[in-house]
Amino acid sequence: MTGTEIKALDAQNVMQTYGRFDAVIERGEGATLYSPEGKQYIDFTSGIGVNSIGYGNKKWVDAITAQAMKLQHISNLYYSEPYVKLAEQLASRTGMKNVFFSNAGGEANEGMIKLARKYSFDKYGRGRSTIISLIQSFHGRTITTLSATGQESFHNFFFPFTEGFKHVAANEIECLENELTDDVCAVMIELIQGEGGVLPLDSEYVKAVADLCASKDVLVLVDEIQTGVGRTGTLFAFQQYGIKPDVISFAKGIAGGLPMGGIIANEKCSKVLTPGTHATTFGGNPVSAAGALEVLRQLDDAALEEVTKKGEYIRNTIKGWNKSAVGEIRGKGLMIGVSMKGVLPKDAAQACVDNGLLMLTAGADALRMLPPLTISYEEMDKGLEILKSVL
Ligand SMILES: *Cc1c(COP(=O)(O)O)cnc(C)c1O
Repeated sequence: MTGTEIKALDAQNVMQTYGRFDAVIERGEGATLYSPEGKQYIDFTSGIGVNSIGYGNKKWVDAITAQAMKLQHISNLYYSEPYVKLAEQLASRTGMKNVFFSNAGGEANEGMIKLARKYSFDKYGRGRSTIISLIQSFHGRTITTLSATGQESFHNFFFPFTEGFKHVAANEIECLENELTDDVCAVMIELIQGEGGVLPLDSEYVKAVADLCASKDVLVLVDEIQTGVGRTGTLFAFQQYGIKPDVISFAKGIAGGLPMGGIIANEKCSKVLTPGTHATTFGGNPVSAAGALEVLRQLDDAALEEVTKKGEYIRNTIKGWNKSAVGEIRGKGLMIGVSMKGVLPKDAAQACVDNGLLMLTAGADALRMLPPLTISYEEMDKGLEILKSVL
């Protein structure tokens, strides 16, 4: 099919819920994508942080192909090898205790919220179920994770929303202290708010949150759906913040492009979800798990160090341009936000796409880059050259 035919079928048959950029993608290699007509795009998005080890990654393709030939799915009524190996990797590389697998981020956060409320219910009974999250956060699109999301624009249309969520300003510990009443069971944070604008939390603030919560047996829930799986230069971002969360959620980049998500709990929270209290049909899917195992195998210490270096390379290059449209440069590793001055991020991103560079936006003011972690310096240079000319 041609790009024009594909767009026409989308318009006729697909609910128009996405503000898509004007680009049709057919295939990819490394961090470079091609339209059906052969137009080339450098990918600074990895499908919103999903294709963590790029396109046409031979070992990853081999791993998922071999698994699909053996067994594509078996329900969670039975045991199988891929998910147990993956859970072992995730537990040992985080120093946490055990894992529940879901299929995407919103669903992972639902599990994390359920776990937090049940932890408190089991120990303290009813009435200690409030979860505090941060203004400008994003936690998903289900009715409950929309409640958790601290951006007013998401609290519309779908009333009634799930009760029991409060939002406080990020990086202001007094605000949290004031809201940490006896009905609170957990605090839920992104260490770098992704959708909200690539806004990192201060290290001191995060440590103070962890201490305050620990003193009241309030759980610290870290949404690592965007920051996790090597994105910020460590396997998970919390490993750079010097805290030990009670539960973290992951999704996006974990399986290298296949749907998978989940939560990892520490010892204290490892036995809260018991038989019958939580489940999902596809959770821990063997093909996704095989893909995830290969992603984790490739994200060794050397590869993670490269993520940090590449992130610095992109940041330093942009800093060196002295362009009037460039404001703050934010983020860690290959999670980069560049605030725009006098230009709408959406317009800048579309101009990038028109010129052969896929680019994301974040919050009201920023362009956001989440390239495949395996992107080459040559591809980064090509992409940066396009960005420079657009700016
Ligand atoms: C993307 C994202 C989600 C939602 O994940 P889905 O897979 O789209 O459900 C939740 N939290 C954060 C921080 C995200 O970046």
